Amino acid sequence: MYKIIPLKQAEISVPLSLVMMMGDARTIVTGPVYVWVIDGRDEKIVVDAGIQEPHNGLVQGYPVKGGGEKGLRSALEKANVRPEEVEKLVITHLHFDHVANAGLFHNARIYVQKREWDSALNPPMHYRRTYDRNLILPLEEMDLCLVEGDVEITDGVKLVLLPGHTKGMQGVAIETEKGRYLIAGDQFYTYFNIFPPKQPLELTDSAGNKVQIPAIDLPFLPTGLHVDLSEWYNSCFKALSYVRRRNILPGHDPSLEGSTFP
Ligand SMILES: [Zn+2]
Repeated sequence: MYKIIPLKQAEISVPLSLVMMMGDARTIVTGPVYVWVIDGRDEKIVVDAGIQEPHNGLVQGYPVKGGGEKGLRSALEKANVRPEEVEKLVITHLHFDHVANAGLFHNARIYVQKREWDSALNPPMHYRRTYDRNLILPLEEMDLCLVEGDVEITDGVKLVLLPGHTKGMQGVAIETEKGRYLIAGDQFYTYFNIFPPKQPLELTDSAGNKVQIPAIDLPFLPTGLHVDLSEWYNSCFKALSYVRRRNILPGHDPSLEGSTFP
């Protein structure tokens, strides 16, 4: 049985409007970029490859701390993993903060959805800056495996196509001794997206200011970034067909740092 270890590779600051649809674009919040180790059998499996090192403090215009090869190695070290020993690398989607250091996984088979690959090389106009061809094209020279749909890559680890955030995003469903978990990629950034607040609540932004969030009467709270909101909603319910709501692991929630699941 597997354990799942989210490891912080960097921190990125983004407008709240990106984290939750209709959020205040003037409020800047800071969250982690994770790489994930699926620990269990002899085989080493990693999900996502983090963000590049910032130039002048920025990546694609967003303030970033950490990142790059150094950030990746020190994150994986906490789980005693070196990128060269990894046999399987799953890239949930090809956004710049999920794929940047894939080139360090020389010996890994790399799993990307074919739909994601095709779309990343010809993205919808509004989302061009979420993809960086310089990070994506080198994967062609590696052991790249383009999959279509839901595919079990080893006993107890299944790729699950979850389109909406991007055309071909995938989650990873993992069997553990406490049931199945889902690494959800950016289908959900935070637990707010999975459990919309039933009562008004207060957030702290990256400058330390308090921000009021109203109660939200929706089954799921969309993120501010999606190529197809209807597909996104379908993917929410597809996720629930795989796992219990509380076993969904969001892509950028600060509370995951230091935890192991189960
Ligand atoms: Zn993304």
